[in-house]
Amino acid sequence: MTLRFASIGSGSKGNCLVVESGSTRVLLDCGLNPSETRKRLARISLAPADLSGILITHEHDDHAGQAYAVAQQFGIPIWLTYGTQCALSESGKLPGAAITRTIEGREAFSIGDLLVQPFTVPHDARAPVQYVLSDGERRLGVLTDIGASTPHVEATLSGCDALVLECNHDIDMIWAGDYPKWLKERITGPFGHLSNLQAERLLAALDRSRLKHVIAAHLSHQNNRPALAREALARAMGCEADWIGLSTQEDGFSWRGFS
Ligand SMILES: [Zn+2]
Ligand SMILES: [Zn+2]
Repeated sequence: MTLRFASIGSGSKGNCLVVESGSTRVLLDCGLNPSETRKRLARISLAPADLSGILITHEHDDHAGQAYAVAQQFGIPIWLTYGTQCALSESGKLPGAAITRTIEGREAFSIGDLLVQPFTVPHDARAPVQYVLSDGERRLGVLTDIGASTPHVEATLSGCDALVLECNHDIDMIWAGDYPKWLKERITGPFGHLSNLQAERLLAALDRSRLKHVIAAHLSHQNNRPALAREALARAMGCEADWIGLSTQEDGFSWRGFS
């Protein structure tokens, strides 16, 4: 089996990572509408018929706002925690007819050729999880939308072969910016988002010995700059900043794998 992955969008206007193992392909989060999803999948040479399903991290619109519409149009199921399912149902974003599979926040499962390990994270959602995905040999860790690192997160992400890691904001830029105070407090708080510095420290705390890919993701348009995020992760890796990948809102990033 070979593991590879790409993104068709990353940031507060919509997230969608594509992960492939063997003949299985899933969308990890679904914040882009069906026509935009279809259009961007074509950029990485995929069609809706190539997909096995949608994995959701939590109910926020940029991750799950389009899951129901995409699942319906493409005829694929949605995997999510019970808490996420309740939150989506209550806000009318998951009308009854969707095909859903309920998962436990710490219990591994498989979708076809893909092994999926969810792990719980502190974030202001009902029952948020993030994921490590594997073909049985290589492990891709994905971590966005987390207010602060935890020992559980660091134990789970240690020893991965690839990481997609949130670098939401630069702490000086957000406090100097024009967001309302409550929003600055939410984003920088323990259930908000990771700053570049928090991401750097988290990465530095991991076993990095197998890492072949490190990608900065979920960057704030207003409160961050790609160079700052890459420099932060590069410090933790002891590498050049241009080795660090970047996932952007409009383009995500193209296929990456292991050869
Ligand atoms: Zn988000
Ligand atoms: Zn969120």
